[in-house]
Amino acid sequence: MLSLRNLSRAYKTRAGFTHVLQQVNLDIPAGDFVTLMGPSGAGKSTLLSILGLYDHEWEGEYRLDGTEVHKLGVRERAALNKKHVGFVFQQFHLLDDLTVAENLDIPLSYRDVKKSEREALVADTLDRFGIVGTKDLYPAQLSGGQQQLVAIARAVIAKPSLLLADEPTGNLHTDQGRQIMELFRRLHGEGTTIVQVTHNEEWAGYGSRIVRLKDGWMER
Ligand code: ADP
Ligand code: MG
Repeated sequence: MLSLRNLSRAYKTRAGFTHVLQQVNLDIPAGDFVTLMGPSGAGKSTLLSILGLYDHEWEGEYRLDGTEVHKLGVRERAALNKKHVGFVFQQFHLLDDLTVAENLDIPLSYRDVKKSEREALVADTLDRFGIVGTKDLYPAQLSGGQQQLVAIARAVIAKPSLLLADEPTGNLHTDQGRQIMELFRRLHGEGTTIVQVTHNEEWAGYGSRIVRLKDGWMER
């Protein structure tokens, strides 16, 4: 269960404060599959990075599975993130000086998984995503679509209980996008809580409900 109460986020700019999220209230039961939609600039990425415990410059209350995130320090939030969250960044954020296989190993290294098991999981994931041929390449050597597949693979490899995906299929072909949505549907069936951002109505249909964000406000 994830709940936000009166959550606000403002960016300080030279012109003053830009209020991006204002008094957002949101409840997402465990195991829900929510699609967050709204125009560009509405605050979708900002909201997702707060949910993923990457952004701390907000006010209000955030509860995650009984933990009061607003009362935690940055280190404790990072620990919670590593334990529970898988995140597909809109701009991928792969680690440039690590190979694809090494990027996929990172989330596993945060868990208590043996080296041999980690290697097997990475090999299996490369295979499932059809990216075995890229395993020793660096992100800069990949196409945008390949980088996005690696970003999704990295987000799901450690079986996070909370999967957050920011336009995860934006760089993929339609049939690849559909495969990713089938994967999300399967993870949802296994109890993963998912919040995805998309502009695609078909992909939104894979979720159980749509939440619309407009100018930093939840639409009612
Ligand atoms: P969306 O993902 O819905 O397109 P974002 O969350 O990326 O929207 O951005 C929402 C608003 O916050 C936009 O007006 C954007 O310009 C502003 N914004 C985002 N990041 C920053 C930043 N680091 N500094 C200042 N303004 C920002
Ligand atoms: Mg965005």
